[in-house]
Amino acid sequence: MAESYKSYVQQLLHNGLKSRKNSFFDHIDGKLLIEQSQRNVRYKIEQQNRNMGNCINFGRGKSSKLQKNQVPNSPLSVNSQQQPIISPSSVQFSINNSNTNGITTPSSSGVSSASSSTTSAIVLKSTNENTRFQYVAIFDYDARTNDDLTIRKNDLLEITLRKNAAWWKAKNENGKEGWIPSNYVAKKDSLESEPWYFKSIRRIDAEKQLMSDVNEHGSFLIRDSETKKTDFSLSIRDNDSVKHYRIRQSEDGRYYIARRTTFPNLPELVIHYTKTSDGLCVNLRQPCVHIIKPEPDGLSHNLVDKWEILRREIKLIRRLGHGQFGDVWEGVWNDNVSVAVKTLKPGSMNPTDFLAEASMMKRLRHPNLIQLFAVCTIEEPIYIITELMKNGSLLDYLQNPRSRQLKIPALVYIATQIARGMAYLEQQNYIHRDLAARNVLVGDDNVVKIADFGLARIIKEYAGGMYEAKEGTKFPIKWTAPEAALYNRFTIKSDVWSYGILLTELVTFGRTPYPGMTNAEVLRQVDQGYRLPQPPNCPATLYTIMRECWHAQPENRPSFSTLQYRLENEYNGENPEFSN
Ligand code: AMP
Repeated sequence: MAESYKSYVQQLLHNGLKSRKNSFFDHIDGKLLIEQSQRNVRYKIEQQNRNMGNCINFGRGKSSKLQKNQVPNSPLSVNSQQQPIISPSSVQFSINNSNTNGITTPSSSGVSSASSSTTSAIVLKSTNENTRFQYVAIFDYDARTNDDLTIRKNDLLEITLRKNAAWWKAKNENGKEGWIPSNYVAKKDSLESEPWYFKSIRRIDAEKQLMSDVNEHGSFLIRDSETKKTDFSLSIRDNDSVKHYRIRQSEDGRYYIARRTTFPNLPELVIHYTKTSDGLCVNLRQPCVHIIKPEPDGLSHNLVDKWEILRREIKLIRRLGHGQFGDVWEGVWNDNVSVAVKTLKPGSMNPTDFLAEASMMKRLRHPNLIQLFAVCTIEEPIYIITELMKNGSLLDYLQNPRSRQLKIPALVYIATQIARGMAYLEQQNYIHRDLAARNVLVGDDNVVKIADFGLARIIKEYAGGMYEAKEGTKFPIKWTAPEAALYNRFTIKSDVWSYGILLTELVTFGRTPYPGMTNAEVLRQVDQGYRLPQPPNCPATLYTIMRECWHAQPENRPSFSTLQYRLENEYNGENPEFSN
């Protein structure tokens, strides 16, 4: 392979990497991370203050998890083997409870009011702190390489090396050491280590997880409030629905759902409501089972900042489809991680566009965008290796007769995730330019991720947020905004137009837009003001959103962050049309 080509590839990859390294603080997830660490600090300080007296550590000790089907009528059953924060020598609880009723029914805003007061005191005298094992596994991780450590939820761990933010070296209680993804562990006794704490997940995701088959009546989780930093929300599965309650903090820092019953911390609030519903729809029975695990960053600890992997590490298993550049395969990396492998037809004269897509993906990291893992460029055929989405493209998925059973809430959940991925692109000043159901991929549990960044571009401020496509470039007319199709003016608002078309694909289960019309007719009619009519069974609220996406003036179309917000909120019970 020519030297110039090799150096070109390296340059391309290097640029992608550089911009990614610098992007942490502008990153949506970066901000969330900071907020999260602030919460953890507050939580830790509260715990320490409490332990200066005689109180409790409700951290995830080996037995701290509420067992499924366990009737949690005694806090002892919840927490009898807790690892305490501060010294003492034996574990012992004493509980004194008096409850009154008075929690109002949960509303869609999750606010509850209250009166009077309750005492709930839990006293823990504890054993010596184990200072070595400061971390606890919050998810299972199976070793992918010989250097990795397999961990199981609740394993206590010592972190021995923090090579980068994403992968740490850890030692377990049996003395075994190896690499683990850092997002699979939490500081022991931190809020994050509680099995019921789901951090900043949105209400829509809380509902999705609680309603999954593995959870049942009384499953619950606590998450950060979406509206107020110091508040939390409690989400509980109530048979076939989910109820949300706001957990507020009083001026003196105590937590409550009903003002009459306050608690010094969230664990004690949880203990109280496991014993008695005390006005909630049902008492808290078992922490919600995580159905969505975070992805480790990259394939392994030594590939985070490395692109090129050896071709022999990849085995091709079966052909998944055919893309613009060549076949797409399901493959396995290192005999144990499933991946998707995009191949470039051997002898292809133009690897630039193919690799441009990889470079684009490398700069972007979001749960609703396909993650690039690695490339093999040293010999032909060139491979781009990404995460595998088991259910293929959203278009194929929708057109499969089995998808007919997807109801409006499931379709809106898919739409919300796409809006999230696009809101991230919007925030990063990228445009996609080819947003359509065929370019979105589907994994388990209707998780969707945006793919096909082949036409994506970064938009420079000085260009007024606009990308001018070359004369004669071909576009999928039925998805393309009129100003982009007619005058090559691509902006994030032309992506918003395409998003509106994608919504029609969703509610019609993959029907081609403007049925019976040619591209030329669509172009002419749309320019004259014609818009797709409301599809059958499409809720009016969703159609209103579509029409806003197709506003003739790009600046009058909503932003993706507004779309995300509206779908997340309208989906969640406030709009009865969406919640059937
Ligand atoms: P593309 O070249 O991206 O248009 O891909 C062609 C087809 O391959 C898609 O329509 C999917 O069916 C399949 N495919 C592409 N990427 C993936 C992936 N990451 N996971 C699963 N299937 C994929």
